[in-house]
Amino acid sequence: MSEAGIAVELRGARKRYGTKTALDGVDLAVEPGTFCVLLGPSGSGKTTLLRCLAGIERLTEGRIVLGDRLVADGPSHEPPERRNLAMVFQDYALWPHLTAARNVEFAVGRLHLGRGEAAARVEGMLGRVGLAHLAHRYPNELSGGEQQRVALARALVGGTGLLLFDEPLSNLDADLRERMRIEIGTLTRDAGTTAVYITHDQAEAFALADVVGVLRDGRLVQFGPPEEIYARPATPFVARFTGLAGELPVEVLGGAEGHGPSGQPLMPVRPAAGCGDGPERATLLATAMGAAHGIPGAGTVLVRPAGVQLLPAGHPHGHVDAAVLDTAYRGRGYDHALELGPGLQLVGIHDERRWARGDRVRVRLAPAACLLFAGAERLGAATAPTVAALSG
Ligand code: ADP
Ligand code: MG
Repeated sequence: MSEAGIAVELRGARKRYGTKTALDGVDLAVEPGTFCVLLGPSGSGKTTLLRCLAGIERLTEGRIVLGDRLVADGPSHEPPERRNLAMVFQDYALWPHLTAARNVEFAVGRLHLGRGEAAARVEGMLGRVGLAHLAHRYPNELSGGEQQRVALARALVGGTGLLLFDEPLSNLDADLRERMRIEIGTLTRDAGTTAVYITHDQAEAFALADVVGVLRDGRLVQFGPPEEIYARPATPFVARFTGLAGELPVEVLGGAEGHGPSGQPLMPVRPAAGCGDGPERATLLATAMGAAHGIPGAGTVLVRPAGVQLLPAGHPHGHVDAAVLDTAYRGRGYDHALELGPGLQLVGIHDERRWARGDRVRVRLAPAACLLFAGAERLGAATAPTVAALSG
């Protein structure tokens, strides 16, 4: 095993493919032994970044430092085998003509161990990923999950200071994905290795990460612990990409009325006309993000599903009225979709009880779940026509 993970640093990393800029000046620093997840939609540059870290792809500009070594300075760089790292791919990338044990053994070669010691190490690693009994199978005799375990064992067995993961769970079934996610998280942390893991799946990112970086169009738009990104997204893009119930156009009524748990001002807002129209539109408090404080005027509240509570119609402690559109049994309670106005919805609203489709409810919105951004933010495509109608 590695003694410790290595530090990872990118400075001004840029990658162009012809006229296409895949990485647009990324600065990133990952502390040794940290599990870093880079999260972004398809095409945001995740794979390109990982391949540049691995040395499979050359930077156009910028630098990469791994541990105490400058491994890339513009397009001149060290090849993958000289970077003290191992990689786990989405499609496993095992040698089809080698057994599980031989696939893993391949990665032990770099350690120059005696034959007995190498075999013991391979066996131990296969045991740790729960495959001791399948060591002599070939990849085509293993399920997808088993193949990914072999790939994980292969990545871990060499004791490198850095592990790179390119969406390793995306070809697995849901229940297997969860178990594999736990194994990746625990085995990587046990090894003390630094990890850079890329995914487009927000839940996966938050579950695994010590620190999350959000990528958009080849840029790193936010970097921090998952809790911070959830509570204080830097931009509406980050908020939308990390799980929203929906978006409300609001009017900001005045100055701050106190502060949230992490110090942001709480602003009094009123949902715009046509949005959750009840007998009266209640004032509610929303947490100001970025520069969204001080100035009364139009704003947008991006609503996190946690912190939205369903109350019976007419309940005095609610904020906006809605109709139940849909209800989905989740084992642990129910998720509800609500309609607040024409085309304006809140989805993924959890409750232990099932509210019937068509029920009128009153929705209570906790300040921490209401992320206020300044201006009548361009809303998602699905709700845009409604917003135009509301402001008209
Ligand atoms: P992600 O992994 O986040 O989906 P990628 O890093 O694969 O994104 O791609 C980032 C952008 O760079 C995309 O617009 C993609 O089309 C482009 N791109 C990636 N690889 C190449 C390539 N070899 N040639 C041209 N364009 C590429
Ligand atoms: Mg990719």
